[in-house]
Amino acid sequence: MIDLDSFTDEAGSFIDDAVAEGLACPAYGAILPPKLYDQARTWQRHCRRGGYAGVHWPTEYGGRGLSADHYVRWSVACAERGVAPYANFQGFVLAGAAILKYGTEQQKQQFLAPTLSADITWCQLFSEPDSGSDLASLSTTATVDGDGWAVTGQKVWSSTAQFAQWAILLARTDPGATNHRGISFFLFDMTTDGVDVRPLRQMTGESEFCEVFIDGARIEADGLLGPLHGGWGVATSVLADERAGVASTRTGLRRQTDSLRLAAAGHDQVHAAEARVMALSAESEAIGHLFGRVGGDPRLGPLSKLGRTELASRMTAAELDLQGAKGMLVGDATEPFLYAPGMRLAGGTSEIQRNLVGERLLGLPREPRR
Ligand SMILES: Cc1cc2nc3c(=O)[nH]c(=O)nc-3n(C[C@H](O)[C@H](O)[C@H](O)COP(=O)(O)OP(=O)(O)OC[C@H]3O[C@@H](n4cnc5c(N)ncnc54)[C@H](O)[C@@H]3O)c2cc1C
Repeated sequence: MIDLDSFTDEAGSFIDDAVAEGLACPAYGAILPPKLYDQARTWQRHCRRGGYAGVHWPTEYGGRGLSADHYVRWSVACAERGVAPYANFQGFVLAGAAILKYGTEQQKQQFLAPTLSADITWCQLFSEPDSGSDLASLSTTATVDGDGWAVTGQKVWSSTAQFAQWAILLARTDPGATNHRGISFFLFDMTTDGVDVRPLRQMTGESEFCEVFIDGARIEADGLLGPLHGGWGVATSVLADERAGVASTRTGLRRQTDSLRLAAAGHDQVHAAEARVMALSAESEAIGHLFGRVGGDPRLGPLSKLGRTELASRMTAAELDLQGAKGMLVGDATEPFLYAPGMRLAGGTSEIQRNLVGERLLGLPREPRR
């Protein structure tokens, strides 16, 4: 196996060449903006050919078979250059990881390699209009229909659903069981009859997420991932991966603070501006170190997600403030500022992360259950 430092050099050259050739897709976080969809897929295919898609996935499913540390080096090399490490977070981090962990051999063969080549992109159909934080109360049903299921219900906040060929979907399969007990986890074909996807416009002006109406759509028998009625365990694992993924990397944080430092240097109240940026930088370093420890202790995931997304909100506000009157005009700093509040909700809101920190990390009493 190639050693970590040689791999890092090799990956850096690969990305630099791709940037020079205009092939690399700029970094965008967890939700692929519609305007970058084609570019991101082209970039993912280029990475696949170069051996950088699924660096730590097994070779029999199209990956490169290297270690998780190699994958971290790849992510950092991308972050240092402001380039996306993969095309589709929902596919690579959520669906892919769930199929690797819980999939049958047939599901792995069917989905993993096409996900790495971005021939299949995915969305996540978990949240519903009345079930977001309290996801276990979801009411979409999958009823037995011959040897498969028929799904009916409404999903919302479904990022990239307007492009996705496949979805990971939670539905109630045992209406008699309460809360998380009767839920199953499905791999769901978005092109099936009975699926109506309606993009929602957000305050950045983009439409990155959708409502999805499902009316009697068919799922074949091999669409179940994990145990029947036992989908909550699969979902819990996916949500932990999501929290860790949204928490981003130390490198990304450093890039943000470097940009703030530059803005402060040119400010007319330079000392006050620098003091503000230094306080944000110190917090950013602390969260960066915390993020580095999440792999060793998954209970730190909620704390890291909370710290990262709350800090990002304050950083984007500081960036606008440092621009003074110019910050009131639409410019480079506007979109990140308008985008940041959504990241405090996506993957579980800040209040829910605080509950998780209190209960799982600090051992405080659980909040009352309904
Ligand atoms: C940008 C973005 C992308 C998203 N992408 C997806 C996606 O692709 N797929 C998907 O399935 N979902 C997605 N979501 C949905 C996201 O997971 C939910 O928005 C989130 O879980 C909150 O649910 P809700 O919006 O229904 O708010 P609610 O659960 O109704 O919460 C409303 C408010 O009450 C607070 N609250 C609720 N319960 C508690 C409690 N027990 N203690 C303290 N406070 C509480 C919340 O913190 C929040 O402030 C996305 C959200 C955003 C913003």
